[in-house]
Amino acid sequence: MRDDELLRYSRQIVLPEIDIEGQRSINKTRAIVIGLGGLGTVVSAYLARMGVGNITVCDYDNIDISNLHRQVLFDSKDIGFNKAIITKEKLNQINPDLEVKAVDEKLDKNKLDSLVTKENVVVDATDNFKIRYEINEICVNNKKPLISGSAIGWKGHVLTLDFSKKESPCYQCIYGANMEEEESCSELGILPPVTGLIGSWQALEVIKLILNRKTTPSNLIEFDALSNSIRKFNLERDPICKVCG
Ligand SMILES: [Zn+2]
Repeated sequence: MRDDELLRYSRQIVLPEIDIEGQRSINKTRAIVIGLGGLGTVVSAYLARMGVGNITVCDYDNIDISNLHRQVLFDSKDIGFNKAIITKEKLNQINPDLEVKAVDEKLDKNKLDSLVTKENVVVDATDNFKIRYEINEICVNNKKPLISGSAIGWKGHVLTLDFSKKESPCYQCIYGANMEEEESCSELGILPPVTGLIGSWQALEVIKLILNRKTTPSNLIEFDALSNSIRKFNLERDPICKVCG
């Protein structure tokens, strides 16, 4: 590791759980972040700052003025530009040592599959049920760890599913097969610190996966900012699940 890298990561290398070896593992990791909204901008910024060496960022949407209150990588001058392209630019400014790839097209299942097979960890930061189920199925089939986040109003969820382990449930085991229309932030509202918290939590789960440190058996965390309550669940596989059963 170069001197400037040692300096850049010094505040996390000093943690005994990370150390030089852990930092090397982080630098070698390939991660994909799907969806660059309130969650995805936070996750990708933290992964870049911590030194995840290869990050693919995906979003076909353009930046709108209503995004700016929570999508922390974007400024007023970015309005109208594609989210993935701008995210790549910003991540490269944060940490020029990284390989960042921007995917600015709408993803179908085949494209998603070809992207995910190359990755070590998959971050689902989308706000759409259909693509969530597709990402889940592709991660199950490719045995890729999936960190899925969602936030609406004052509440958020983080789901950590490690499909390299046989006993892991999948998204469909937990939420069933019904693809209902997801509640949208434009209708129900969202608070920036809630997406910030959930995105940060997803980044933490990514790092613990890389370091092979699972501190609790819980795979679902539910956070309610109004009551400051955190609930943890250890959900089990559905043996008759059509995706992973
Ligand atoms: Zn399942």
